[in-house]
Amino acid sequence: MSAPSSRVGGLPSYAVSEIVAAKRRLMQAGVDVIDLGAGDADFPPPEAAVEAMQEALRDPRMSRYGFQQGLIAFREAAAHYMERRFGVTLDPMEEILPLIGSKEGLAHLPFAVLDEGQTVVVPEPGYPAYIGGAVLSGAEAEIVPLVPAKRFLVELEDLPHGRLERVGLAYLNYPNNPTAAVAPLDYLERTVELCRRRKIVIAYDNPYCEITFDGYRAPSIFQVGGARDVAIEFHSLSKTFGMTGWRLGWAAGSRQLIGALTKVKSYVDTGPFLAIQHAGAAVLERAEAIVPPLVDAFRRRRDAAVKGFRQAGFDVESPRATMYLWIPVPGGIPSAEFARQLLETEGVLLLHGSAFGAGGEGFFRVALTVAEQRLEEAAERTGRMVERAGIARGAVAVK
Ligand code: PLP
Repeated sequence: MSAPSSRVGGLPSYAVSEIVAAKRRLMQAGVDVIDLGAGDADFPPPEAAVEAMQEALRDPRMSRYGFQQGLIAFREAAAHYMERRFGVTLDPMEEILPLIGSKEGLAHLPFAVLDEGQTVVVPEPGYPAYIGGAVLSGAEAEIVPLVPAKRFLVELEDLPHGRLERVGLAYLNYPNNPTAAVAPLDYLERTVELCRRRKIVIAYDNPYCEITFDGYRAPSIFQVGGARDVAIEFHSLSKTFGMTGWRLGWAAGSRQLIGALTKVKSYVDTGPFLAIQHAGAAVLERAEAIVPPLVDAFRRRRDAAVKGFRQAGFDVESPRATMYLWIPVPGGIPSAEFARQLLETEGVLLLHGSAFGAGGEGFFRVALTVAEQRLEEAAERTGRMVERAGIARGAVAVK
């Protein structure tokens, strides 16, 4: 047997998979672990999803192959939702594609849209499926650092001379994981305009569009004029509806882009379980009732965590969106070392910034996965670890 391929060998290890093992080891040793690692909140799924799923399991038609067409009712529910939420009209059969969670669609996209020699813009820090899709498809990743000075925005115009010409695909994700940054409309407009001029496909990853606070409403890229010519948008039921493990999302975009991704997926999977699509349709049709209480719960968690980490001496901004806090590591110690010490000494599990690529160094991410009191306790334990380890307060400036 040969060793892993050079493509697989070229991928960094996947941080979230590794922490699952660390958590199990500590819990077996009796440690009270507070898990703020993966973006997987402890909310139960909506009752409408559970009921629809139970009903679907008794229907033998739901146990058949879904193929890429999937459940037409799910395609329609996704299209209706996008019409109601963003005022965007999409053809359910040609401009929507059910996904087994948005992650697989994001990772499969480079196979569908790139030609030989084209590169992929991968923001760093960023969701690891972007670099995964680029590297596994054999494309070169054009890493773009997300930095506070640029409000964590990907500015394609800033790529060094000669590099923009090679870009075939750019992943953009706002509201952003892990930085929690949001994208102003004028930024989206100029980015769409540039990508139209340069014929760059935009993969607009939008799983946090509903998790927004303080009056902020996150847009769809399709609210920008001309975006349909270049963009494909990814949505997920995971975060908005507390359904991470169900594995359901969808892609939306032009017939050409959706058609290309459909063709790739036809060769590698047979679509999400139809019963899950039935449940997904049920929640999407009730989104306006289901989403506000969930967002309110995330807001309470955000407020408690921000307050707790500030009281523990950290420099924390209160995010306007997502379920994450992106906090500078104090004292200039490597983020992985900070997270390791915190887990081993205080049982608090969070993700070190470098888990999102080298560009995430200098920060750590707190996911609002547990109730307020546990978040406050996690903040207190983190402060205690910093005191005990004698880590100097104050972040090292990140430009
Ligand atoms: N995109 C981003 C930015 C994410 O943070 C995540 C999950 O953490 C996903 C996509 C994947 O979501 P799904 O569960 O739909 O695969």
